[in-house]
Amino acid sequence: MPAKVDMDKIVSLCKRRGLIFPSSEIYGGLASCWDYGPMGVELKRNVKEAWWKVVVHERDDVVGLDTSIMMHPGVWAASGHIDNFTDPLVECKSCHLRWRADAIEGQRCPQCSGELTEPRMFNLMFKTFMGPVEEEASLVYLRPETAQGIFVNFENVVTTSRKKLPLGIAQIGKSFRNEITTGNFIFRTREFEHMELEYFVKPGTDKEWLDYWVKERFDWYVKLGIRKENLRLRQHGKDELAHYAKDCYDIDYLFPMGWSELEGIANRGDFDLTQHAKCSGKELSYYDAEAGEKYVPYVIEPSAGVDRSVLAFLIDAYEEEEIEGEKRTVLHLHPSLAPIKVAVLPLSRNEKLTPLAKEVFKQLCPSFVTDYDDSQSIGRRYRRQDEIGTPFCVTIDFESLEDKQVTIRERDSLAQIRVPIGELNKVIEAKLKGEAFDASTLWATREK
Ligand code: ATP
Repeated sequence: MPAKVDMDKIVSLCKRRGLIFPSSEIYGGLASCWDYGPMGVELKRNVKEAWWKVVVHERDDVVGLDTSIMMHPGVWAASGHIDNFTDPLVECKSCHLRWRADAIEGQRCPQCSGELTEPRMFNLMFKTFMGPVEEEASLVYLRPETAQGIFVNFENVVTTSRKKLPLGIAQIGKSFRNEITTGNFIFRTREFEHMELEYFVKPGTDKEWLDYWVKERFDWYVKLGIRKENLRLRQHGKDELAHYAKDCYDIDYLFPMGWSELEGIANRGDFDLTQHAKCSGKELSYYDAEAGEKYVPYVIEPSAGVDRSVLAFLIDAYEEEEIEGEKRTVLHLHPSLAPIKVAVLPLSRNEKLTPLAKEVFKQLCPSFVTDYDDSQSIGRRYRRQDEIGTPFCVTIDFESLEDKQVTIRERDSLAQIRVPIGELNKVIEAKLKGEAFDASTLWATREK
């Protein structure tokens, strides 16, 4: 197993290989804002698709939703965000830096050891104005979570989907939090993406559904290649629970800065629907035809960060190794997450090889995200693909012109097989698909 990787190495790889760039870099950057480059956007999309696939598409009890970022301000009053979505803030009386009181050790400023002010509660919601007038009446908030868009649409979704409880409503989208302290690359930013599921259940069955979702979500990370020993479950203590929660578990990951939350799974009880019913005046309950009773459902909420998941997948996949005296950096990403699935690499930029290599590229790219690269030496091109986690490289050499076969090189084992061009798509599809989610195969159980 490789040594734990420094965050600096991940940041540097991300910049070098077009995964993640500092935002507005040519203007000196903007604190805690990051842009996903050509490889990063693919990785991030793949993480979201892997979530949507198992949470929505592979189930008949969950449907999707995409709600607006700006919502009626009454939503945030009802949800408790205006009163409770706060962190304790302290300010240094000497250097005036501000800190989250619960995130620093001791009573003094971590920067200059100056004296700190008494903590005051700081609301984390971003405010803006809707329309051309900047006045209190047009004040709106950028959502700090996607969940509330789901709760206020509960009635719409239940009526139109004609589904019975238990019923889940899932959403992926941007959230905004004016965090006091950001950092650790994309771990904590002020703009980020959430993947949230609100799973509505009959009261009394909530405990077992919480256990069910905790296990489902934990297993999702493991199936996508994260080592079990780098994950842990942590139940919140009573004093730690959010104002809406009856119970909550965190899935923590061993990030370079230590164990930190990757995802939270909360039992929100009937808090949200009850609050929205009270504040909007609209009844938000469910008629259970089988039981012949009406009730306000309880909600189990697995809430994960897309960016934080991307970071965990990158860290867990990163390895520096030595192969025949040469160093290589490789991302052992699960194939379904890898930005590029296949790279087509003609042995050299030779006028005889190029037409066949282009043909192979054309044959592959409708089915797989494929890269074509004929610059520099083949060794350097392999290294580049290893660094972005491409599972397969297909090489076209002079023999290929004769026997119409190509070589597939596998990223982790470096094993090579020769395959007829006519069979190539089938072979790659089988490798990507058949082995992808089976715990007994190369991808999931490989000792790193
Ligand atoms: P933390 O304690 O780290 O601030 P939280 O408990 O406030 O997180 P939740 O409200 O439970 O977070 O949000 C669920 C998930 O959303 C988190 O587990 C994390 O993956 C992600 N998330 C929350 N805040 C941020 C942020 N500022 N930047 C990136 N991801 C975030």
